[in-house]
Amino acid sequence: MAKEETLECSFCGRKKAETDLLIAGLDAHICDKCIEQAHGIVIEEVAEGKSNALSSEIVLKKPMEIKAFLDQYMIGQTDAKRVMAVAVYNHYKRLLQKNTKEEKEEIEIEKSNIIIVGETGTGKTLIARTIARMLNVPFAIVDATVLTEAGYVGEDVETILTRLLQAADYNVEKAQRGIVFIDEIDKIARKGDNPSITRDVSGEGVQQALLKLLEGTVVNVPPKGGRKHPDQKFIEVDTKNILFVAGGAFSGIDKVISKRLNRQAVGYSASISDDKINEDNLLQYVLPTDLKTFGLIPEIIGRLPVLTHMNPLDEHTLRAILTEPKNSIIKQYTKLFDMDGIKFSIDEKALQYIVKKAVEYKLGARGLRSLCEAILTDAMFELPGSEIKELHITKKYAESKISKVTLKKLKAVS
Ligand code: ADP
Repeated sequence: MAKEETLECSFCGRKKAETDLLIAGLDAHICDKCIEQAHGIVIEEVAEGKSNALSSEIVLKKPMEIKAFLDQYMIGQTDAKRVMAVAVYNHYKRLLQKNTKEEKEEIEIEKSNIIIVGETGTGKTLIARTIARMLNVPFAIVDATVLTEAGYVGEDVETILTRLLQAADYNVEKAQRGIVFIDEIDKIARKGDNPSITRDVSGEGVQQALLKLLEGTVVNVPPKGGRKHPDQKFIEVDTKNILFVAGGAFSGIDKVISKRLNRQAVGYSASISDDKINEDNLLQYVLPTDLKTFGLIPEIIGRLPVLTHMNPLDEHTLRAILTEPKNSIIKQYTKLFDMDGIKFSIDEKALQYIVKKAVEYKLGARGLRSLCEAILTDAMFELPGSEIKELHITKKYAESKISKVTLKKLKAVS
């Protein structure tokens, strides 16, 4: 204890007793006052452009490196990975260049906001999230349908930025370089062109409200519940360097594409000239014009200039998703059990069974997790603290656990 009392801040020399907090480093200590002061200096430096701290925080990799990074976390989807890698690279190149050069008259590189068309659970969110993680920028997910429910918006679109600010811990500079994933963009399609959408013009209203945001504008953002800003009503956020990634299942767009490709979706009257078209994956032929037919207004499509698609997940891909990504579901369970000193393993047949069930129940990749959860919950409850130090899952074990849960329950988890 005596030693404790002799501790002092290595920066200002204050004794431990004179500080509210003294943090230990490898060979030194720093007190709360010095932390505050140092933080102030950093903020000041950045504000005055003396330091490139924020831009150097963004680790910009070349497109091929971006794809290689994505490969670690994501199976397949090569087209989307390549398109995303280029778009993200160009976006941040544009951003970093502006940061270092003062001249304004250089060629203006436009924003490369992205739109991804793909069935639910095929990795649209995953790709955006993984890129944000790689770049070390704040990432927020917003659901476009929430914006719709508020009707004629205006204010509500700004809540998108509230999320991003929260993800950036209210660091406006950081938020202004973040990535926003707008999920279910297809749900704000115009009613007229798509019979499956029952909502009224509010869809188009939201699209209109989104325009400025996507393009780049200064928005007054309500901090919303921000304890750190009790007396501050709005925070100004400039969206011109925020990368927007929109995703949607665009259910029924295959028919639009098929029609455009001049053939019927069902395919029983396929003409010979069309024999190269892969009917099982029509999304790969998606063009901006299909989005327009679906009900997105041309202005929105124009502000999401990079269009890509996700392929449907086949059994082979689902099987790989279970074990291959860096943080695959099975690796996560192995670690969870390992933390309790339990050696976890699973049969190949059991894995195949999980994949088959995910396909059968049409649960996609999301279902893999809920199926594993259903199989392993009993063991995760019973084994920690028990004598059993090894768990091996066979197909039979998996079947017995799955037979006890209802499909409804599985869907609820996924
Ligand atoms: P979406 O946004 O298209 O609905 P998500 O990105 O949320 O789908 O994916 C759902 C789940 O499936 C996530 O847990 C994700 O990790 C997993 N997943 C989907 N596609 C892949 C893939 N290609 N590789 C690895 N995991 C995937």
